[in-house]
Amino acid sequence: MDKIYLYNTLIRKKELFIPIKKSKVSMYTCGPTVYWYQHIGNLRTMLLNDFLKRVLLHCGYKVKHVMNITDVDDKTIKASMNENISLKDLTTKYEEIFLIDLNSLNIITPNILVRATDSIKDMVKLIKTLQKKGYAYKTSDGIYFSILKFKNYGKLAILNKLKKTKARIISDNYDKSNVKDFALWKFYTENDGVVFWETEIGKGRPGWHIECSAMSMKYLGDNFDIHTGGTDLIFPHHTNEIAQSEATTNKKFVNYWIHGGFLTMKESKMSKSLGNIITLKELIQQTYSPMHFRYLCLQTHYRKALNFSWENLDAARSAHKKLERKIIQLKKEKHKGADKKKEYEKKFHEAIYDDLNFPRALQIIWKIIEDESFDSEKKLRFIEHLDSVLGLNIKEISEDNNIAIPPEVQKLIDSRERLRKAKLWAEADIIRERIKEFGYQIEDTPDGPQIEKLYRED
Ligand code: AMP
Ligand code: ZN
Repeated sequence: MDKIYLYNTLIRKKELFIPIKKSKVSMYTCGPTVYWYQHIGNLRTMLLNDFLKRVLLHCGYKVKHVMNITDVDDKTIKASMNENISLKDLTTKYEEIFLIDLNSLNIITPNILVRATDSIKDMVKLIKTLQKKGYAYKTSDGIYFSILKFKNYGKLAILNKLKKTKARIISDNYDKSNVKDFALWKFYTENDGVVFWETEIGKGRPGWHIECSAMSMKYLGDNFDIHTGGTDLIFPHHTNEIAQSEATTNKKFVNYWIHGGFLTMKESKMSKSLGNIITLKELIQQTYSPMHFRYLCLQTHYRKALNFSWENLDAARSAHKKLERKIIQLKKEKHKGADKKKEYEKKFHEAIYDDLNFPRALQIIWKIIEDESFDSEKKLRFIEHLDSVLGLNIKEISEDNNIAIPPEVQKLIDSRERLRKAKLWAEADIIRERIKEFGYQIEDTPDGPQIEKLYRED
């Protein structure tokens, strides 16, 4: 098996990936909090999971991927109250939309999807153990984890030099300026409405952090290979997961922590609290295909910030469309030539196994496409094979995807060509926009204008 190097947040370095079991990988992902649509920042992190999983599968590993659905926490309860619908109805709706988003982005569904509300018993068990072992204590409003008791608290977030206090915080979300004992279990208050569980540790609900410790260890064991999420989860969420899990089992919780960079808008993190969010649905309404967004994410290394702009997305769409045209052309070609698979495969593997260098992998794909000396049929089979890692659905690309152009649109195309020939660019651009309103996109290529139907969701 080839060697894979991954950047592990725990040591802040790239290191050789060695799984616990020889050819099997256990992987856990912090899934969505289903109180609203996922924005494209959330989806960028979901694409990272997919890139990582596809690389591991390509390398020959079996992957057991578990993802949770956070369907109870401060945010979900608040949203269900505000919208005046039950927590179940709210979270089921957004969970469904999330799964559709994954599907349209060609993200392989996790092997196990687990809802927090289906794992309350496991959380209670974990909290009881923490109480028994002296890591947890009860107050009037909940059960808290004592960070002073856990010697290595904060290693992942590099908090070692920070002075730890005995103060407490009940909120699920807080920042590094607020390092405090955190809530494992929150006793019922009126603000929770009808959301509570009657349990041996009291009437209430779990804190967000304990949810992931319970669900990951339930399905993957006390020690597993990979845990993923966005960088914002390093503190407090993943820091607290480590503390809860390792205090319970006395074992190392996770071997490799993989964190994805943010998707930003005008350099600020995309987040609901800042109100700068875009959903996949909006991209589709603006006539982009989910594949254009996938392509955009492939173009930036997963640890770097991806500054989203419509111009960037346009560029990704153009590149993707060019790829489609090249593949359609390649499917028609029948020229004999060399089999250069071995040479390119080595380069492609070097890229993807070096901490998932997909921007480099894409460059290699383009080199292969442009290589005229490569036997055309062998080339096509080879690109389709590599696409199992990129997930761009190259096998499905065909001319049939391009629907017949209606006469009124054809007329506009012809007028635009006349204007372009007369070098009347501004007028030609106006017509291009009109064509877009009909749901068609014009791309000017060396072979003349190419027209394609834009992706639209009804
Ligand atoms: P949440 O639903 O807020 O728990 O987030 C789900 C996942 O999306 C987590 O792994 C977050 O770290 C990640 N995430 C949230 N905002 C962004 C962003 N702007 N860019 C990339 N990932 C994000
Ligand atoms: Zn989590």
